[in-house]
Amino acid sequence: MPAVAVGWTCVYNILGVITVIGLLHKLFHRGDADCNEVRKLSSDYLEEDLAPTKRSAIQAHLSNCGPCRAFVDTLASTIGILSRFPKVSTPSTFHDSVMERIKQEKK
Ligand SMILES: [Zn+2]
Repeated sequence: MPAVAVGWTCVYNILGVITVIGLLHKLFHRGDADCNEVRKLSSDYLEEDLAPTKRSAIQAHLSNCGPCRAFVDTLASTIGILSRFPKVSTPSTFHDSVMERIKQEKK
């Protein structure tokens, strides 16, 4: 067998092993949160607005995933900074005028 064919066979075997490991990981970690889910639910997580099982799954993910932990820490810092700004009251017509403008821009 030519060396190139042996090389491609090795690549396919490695890809197959990676796929099997991924499937086994999903099978044994069904309740676990993945990175997309953690980032999508990060606001609810910080506001403690999640069911206990989901919150636990996210905490478990954060303890093993540095990039998600950094994402959630940055979001928490940003929320903390923004909460220190004084609240601004808007005119009573603000909501209606924004919604009207959105409707016009959709056309
Ligand atoms: Zn992650």
